[in-house]
Amino acid sequence: MLNGRTALVTGGARGIGAAICKKLASLGADIAIAALERNEQSDALEQEIMSQYGVRAKTYACDVSDADACKETVKQVLADFGNVTILVNNAGITRDTLILSMKEADFDAVLNTNLKGTFNMTQACYRTFMKQKYGKVINLASVSALLGTAGQANYAASKAGVIALTKVTARELASRNVTCNAIAPGFIATDMTKGLEDQYIGQIPMKRAGTPEDVANLAAFLASPESDYLTGTVIRIDGGLAIS
Ligand code: NAP
Repeated sequence: MLNGRTALVTGGARGIGAAICKKLASLGADIAIAALERNEQSDALEQEIMSQYGVRAKTYACDVSDADACKETVKQVLADFGNVTILVNNAGITRDTLILSMKEADFDAVLNTNLKGTFNMTQACYRTFMKQKYGKVINLASVSALLGTAGQANYAASKAGVIALTKVTARELASRNVTCNAIAPGFIATDMTKGLEDQYIGQIPMKRAGTPEDVANLAAFLASPESDYLTGTVIRIDGGLAIS
């Protein structure tokens, strides 16, 4: 379904990002993984994707908070693969604590990675999407932005910003046949949420954590032609956690 298309997935070497890489590869997409650094994990994922799904995969060292690094990465991906059709802005971090004790550096780090990183990569791909007259931007938001989770002032604000950016991107690029949607996961079992199960599982109506694959299945729909008329939306995937 995605043969001949290249997906650029930020923070793609582990967690939700890695699951998205594998799912999109299983549908035929070539995979460009943007990771803070190339390491054993990213090498292993590249190998797994290429051998299991017969598509191309390559890792690019890129800190998404660095606008120049994002531009350089997109340039390299275009040179290597010839197109960027799917952009998954997945890289994200948390630095949780109450507002009272939140350090300025921790506020800035989260905003710079989650929000500015999403902007940087979107901007770096923008001209390519316009020229191609087709593209799929998938931004990882969070139910934290919808709920205003205590202890996550930086994270919730960054993800609320990602939702706003999703809507702006969707409007600006709609006439070029480029869609942009946000996924708002609830509690997904990854390194990011390790040790927090007791705090959250009881609040989830489905009484279980989500898996990275749950999120990847939704990303696959948003990356596919089946969602071509869907843009500017925020889709929760949270076992009911943020039902309003
Ligand atoms: P994770 O397991 O902690 O993985 C985060 C990934 O982001 C890692 O690959 C990390 O790279 C990468 N990354 C961090 N800072 C980066 C930067 N400046 N530049 C490039 N890559 C960077 O997290 P996850 O749970 O998979 O989360 C993925 C996304 O889903 C995030 O945006 C997160 O906010 C969102 N989300 C997660 C949950 C959840 O419950 N897990 C819920 C809602 C939303 P390294 O491997 O090099 O550190």
